[in-house]
Amino acid sequence: MSASRHPALFAADPELASFVAAEEVLQAQTLRLIPSENYVSAAVLEASGTVLQNKYSEGYPGRRYYEGQQNIDRVEALAVERAKGLFGVDHANVQPYSGSPANLAVYLAFAKPGDTVMGMALPMGGHLTHGWGVSATGSWFRGVQYGVRADTGLIDYDAVRDLALAERPKLIFCGGTALPRTIDFAAFAEIAREAGSILVADVAHIAGLIAGGAHPSPADHVDVISTTTHKTLRGPRGAMLMCREEHAKAIDKAVFPGLQGGPHNQTTAGIAVALHEAAQPSFVSYAHAVVANAKALAAALLQKGFDLVSDGTDNHLILIDLTGKDVPGKIAAKALDRAGIVVNYNTVPFDPRKPFDPSGVRIGTPSLTSRGLSTEHMPVVADWISRAVDAAAKGDEQALAAIRAEVTDLMAAFPAPGLPLA
Ligand SMILES: *Cc1c(COP(=O)(O)O)cnc(C)c1O
Repeated sequence: MSASRHPALFAADPELASFVAAEEVLQAQTLRLIPSENYVSAAVLEASGTVLQNKYSEGYPGRRYYEGQQNIDRVEALAVERAKGLFGVDHANVQPYSGSPANLAVYLAFAKPGDTVMGMALPMGGHLTHGWGVSATGSWFRGVQYGVRADTGLIDYDAVRDLALAERPKLIFCGGTALPRTIDFAAFAEIAREAGSILVADVAHIAGLIAGGAHPSPADHVDVISTTTHKTLRGPRGAMLMCREEHAKAIDKAVFPGLQGGPHNQTTAGIAVALHEAAQPSFVSYAHAVVANAKALAAALLQKGFDLVSDGTDNHLILIDLTGKDVPGKIAAKALDRAGIVVNYNTVPFDPRKPFDPSGVRIGTPSLTSRGLSTEHMPVVADWISRAVDAAAKGDEQALAAIRAEVTDLMAAFPAPGLPLA
């Protein structure tokens, strides 16, 4: 651990600095498979730690409630222009603090408390903010939920249509957090049109794949696109809402003053840089490599005898169903963590177990692809996962430690921006 990376922080607050340094080492040495995580570039890291932090900017470029916006306006306008260009939309709002507040702004723009809203059920792969009960969106609105078919693990579009026509929801959300397959935005658009609903594509997980052309774009099909900026898009933690001109006013009013105060300008700067990076040819390669790695990893896991929800993946994400193994998801996830492989336990569709102790493990390839691992490494990764799950079943801590040493060794050859060499 070295104080040279953050000298002021080490001098002012060595205790906190030591936690940051330890996290840097952890991120450098481990194989990070959580599909919602990534490594931002050194440029994004720098942009999000600037003096833009010091500025209050309630309002929008050219229409602020505070003076001294000469530079901030340019930063935000640049981020907006880049978002519009990259995603092919009329309007972009880059101010939402994160994905959940962005979605809340969509409710505020188009619905009233008590209205019916429709989204994918959380245990089927949807997000909390799509009207699930424990979320504000499920208690202030009447959430109705769709899911996947038990036999295929794929979204049941006929059931989605039946539910939409029966319920006529104000809003329909498509997208989720544990969906390994391509979303058919055109099919959702047809259903939303029939039901008279506003259609929202929440592409938080796949925004980078869309930007890089590795997943179809919702831009021509939906009313609103909601996305985080920190997952496959590889920007700072934040979010954006994008839409056609007709909804621009409603979206902007909902974000500010409806829901938020001053935007986080240092994050806006980081988003602008990430959008610039995502517009480069190298990002097209990155997005396709993420998918190629996920497909190779899925194939290798199937070969090792694992069950995968929907039998594979079209995107960056794989949902391993451990129902047939002796090891539930949480025990597997914790064992993998001890082996230096960072995942999260997750429900699988129709999970016989409880959400806090489910049957699945969710993994993905955005982070390892950012570090330069390629398809040739995926059989090795699958082998580690397989050995770790076996070791978890037997309580073999030595085997987990041996895997950890192998992981650390490989990751040392693939450094990540902003991190010490492993
Ligand atoms: C991650 C995610 C969100 C929420 O983002 P936060 O930044 O964690 O609030 C919303 N929707 C989907 C589909 C997500 O995957």
